[in-house]
Amino acid sequence: MSAYDKSNVFARILRGEIPAKIIYEDDYALAFPDIAPQAPVHVLIIPKGPYTSFDDFSTSATDAEIIGFNRAVVAVAHKLGVHESGYRVLSNVGVHSGQEVPHYHVHLCGGAPLGPLLSKS
Ligand code: 5GP
Repeated sequence: MSAYDKSNVFARILRGEIPAKIIYEDDYALAFPDIAPQAPVHVLIIPKGPYTSFDDFSTSATDAEIIGFNRAVVAVAHKLGVHESGYRVLSNVGVHSGQEVPHYHVHLCGGAPLGPLLSKS
């Protein structure tokens, strides 16, 4: 993937240039609802560092960032109360996945049975 683009929408949310309803924040991560939710609970969790994707993050971030981010994802699931009913964590990487925003993010979805992982279309 190409170099990190500081003008991407999630970088702008991190800088406070675009509004988002922050539901969780710590030193490593920020979480806010997806603007086009596809489940009763659909939250995006992003690291604070400039990483383009899961691939970039897992290759280049520090151990502290990786651990801190993963713990933040779990903290969000607990905060939203979906940890007992279950939830899905998904991250798109690159063209074939349909990744739209080139700042690493995971989708945390839950609140109802989610169906198959991939649509058949
Ligand atoms: P991707 O396809 O890159 O995995 O997912 C990007 C997600 O970001 C999409 O689900 C889309 O609805 C969401 N999104 C795009 N722009 C905004 C925005 O300005 N605010 C919020 N909260 N979500 C956004």
